[in-house]
Amino acid sequence: MSKYWSAVARKLIPYVPGEQPKLSQLVKLNTNENPYPPSERAVAAIAGELGEDGGKLRLYPDPNGDRLKAAIASFYAADGVSAANVFVGNGSDEVLAHVFQALLKHERPILFPDITYSFYPVYCGLYEIEHVAVPLADDFSIVADDYLRPNGGIIFPNPNAPTGRLLPLAEIERIVASNPDSVVVIDEAYIDFAAEAVPTAIPLVARYPNLLVVHTLSKSRSLAGLRVGFAIGDAQLIEALERVKNSFNSYPLDRLAIAGGVAAMNDRVHYDTTRRAVMNSREQLTRDLHSLGFDIVPSAANFIFVRHPQLDAATLASALRERAIIVRHFRLPRIDQYLRITIGTDDQCTALLSALREIL
Ligand code: PMP
Repeated sequence: MSKYWSAVARKLIPYVPGEQPKLSQLVKLNTNENPYPPSERAVAAIAGELGEDGGKLRLYPDPNGDRLKAAIASFYAADGVSAANVFVGNGSDEVLAHVFQALLKHERPILFPDITYSFYPVYCGLYEIEHVAVPLADDFSIVADDYLRPNGGIIFPNPNAPTGRLLPLAEIERIVASNPDSVVVIDEAYIDFAAEAVPTAIPLVARYPNLLVVHTLSKSRSLAGLRVGFAIGDAQLIEALERVKNSFNSYPLDRLAIAGGVAAMNDRVHYDTTRRAVMNSREQLTRDLHSLGFDIVPSAANFIFVRHPQLDAATLASALRERAIIVRHFRLPRIDQYLRITIGTDDQCTALLSALREIL
């Protein structure tokens, strides 16, 4: 091994994704996938793109994903979004990787919460970006005032992960308005599950050229396997992202992802039905777990973050696993007594509850 690589390898701490078990009979509540199938229109569009003989796969896809950008812009047209405000990528993880490299690399450290999406410190390691982890309040909420100090950029998920807590839009706007010289990135992977009227920061983009909002089709549109994410921001920020992306791969999205992504964005009925179903199940599961004695962090996402005052979280996770149910446990300070549970179908929630009753 070269000396250079061993030095790099020692510094690079890779992201460890949630487990993707090979056994299909497991009740899989560990990686925040949507339990419902994707839009039938998206599935048909993918099949149509593939065709009888897959002949179109001979050809490169559109390097700009123009059709997808147009469909995303049209979904948010009422917020003043046009295609020039849209960047698309291979899942929001890839979008975020480009964001860290293109927009968050500065002399000053960037800021993000101390409990947050664990990919952020990984990108910082990869691109040698200094960061300050800003503590959350005791109830796990993000304190907007803590983001008003000098910084080289700000990023956090809203709702936050893995806590599920939502920061109100007025607080987001305060952070964005008070940091005109930094890019503020709001990772809204889970925002569609927040409320009936989705409290997205996208409408603020027209007023704040330093705001970038990142979304994914993995959660509310049930397409984690297709790998489609996007960012919405001022045309200049988007242009910077395009340049960085083109230096890696001018074809970030394949033909099937573009076709399926366009149809999914256009199927508003599926989007609304699915996200409402998940929100209703979240409220029901919250009530049921309360009655079993769990403490539950108020969630605006498709998962809940819970602890049981009498039971060790790691023991509970393995007891569930013995009953073929997998949830996420993070061996991290302050949250090692919590479990993150993805909202499943009614049957999956019922299976979870009966397993918990047995364990308790
Ligand atoms: N942001 C957050 C906060 C997430 O939890 C996830 C999913 N693990 C992502 C982004 C990435 O999602 P995807 O790459 O599937 O779009």
